[in-house]
Amino acid sequence: MVIAIDIGGTFIKIGLVKDGIIIEKTSIKAQANIGIEISLAEVEKIIQSLLSKHSISFNEIKGIGVGFPGLVDSAKMKVLSVNDKYNDAVGFDFVKWGEDAFGAPLFLENDARIALLGEWKHGAGKGKNNIVMLTLGTGVGSAVIIEGKPLIGKHFQAGNLGGHSIINLNGAKCNCGNRGCVEAEASTWRLAELLKSDTRYSGSLIEGEELDFKSLFKFAAEECDLSISVRDHCLNVWAAGVINMIHAYDPELVILGGGIMKSADIIIPFIQEKVDKQAWLPWGKLKVLPSKIPNRSALLGAYYLVTTNLKFNN
Ligand SMILES: [Zn+2]
Repeated sequence: MVIAIDIGGTFIKIGLVKDGIIIEKTSIKAQANIGIEISLAEVEKIIQSLLSKHSISFNEIKGIGVGFPGLVDSAKMKVLSVNDKYNDAVGFDFVKWGEDAFGAPLFLENDARIALLGEWKHGAGKGKNNIVMLTLGTGVGSAVIIEGKPLIGKHFQAGNLGGHSIINLNGAKCNCGNRGCVEAEASTWRLAELLKSDTRYSGSLIEGEELDFKSLFKFAAEECDLSISVRDHCLNVWAAGVINMIHAYDPELVILGGGIMKSADIIIPFIQEKVDKQAWLPWGKLKVLPSKIPNRSALLGAYYLVTTNLKFNN
């Protein structure tokens, strides 16, 4: 039995995973601004209730796998750096929290990396050993598997900063300190500003609707000029980010995940066409696929993280 936790900017997903199968999962709305300590206190209560619902005792829990939206030292299980989310997570002792709350070892990894581990073992990446994944959501995350191994790097950040590849020298200011990063040009945190800075914007896309990508894609489909131009801007930004990752890491497959991929039917064909036309790929055609198990990839990735660290059945 493994406790799997995927800490996101919008939701925190929680699951109980046994023998590679999710036996129960739930999610809560994330409050990244209130910090990790208070958020984990909430998570702890929910896990307690899931455990008692399934009559699972602490000694059955082999480990806790946690994905975190920031740079993570996955040897010391520490958060190295955050990007305007859970600002108290640097220095927070996750291992001690796992030990105190559930008496089990805790393993921490970057959230995009655990999503990719899940897709690699159980989803769109099954059978492939060279994969790039981007997660389009509150921010833009990325992770890479090369020659059958997750890319980590000297300082644990290799492959994780695709969302901060610079695609516009004079672009919008990013939380990371740069300008014109992929996520500063097109992500959920940036969307409202993108719309509001357009002279055609008149106070809302439509009365009472949230300024999110779901409504943006909906209004673009209904021929709203502003929505079409912002949507197309974002699609081009993501395509450029994907092509930068392809040129950097030479994958055989690109997987796109994250909340915005609910509009995969529009995003995937657009990016596939851009990749076909603009990426330098003398060897052939590279497929761009949506996450196959969007609601489970991070939890199954967290399970894989625990099992590989503890070296029991993978
Ligand atoms: Zn950035």
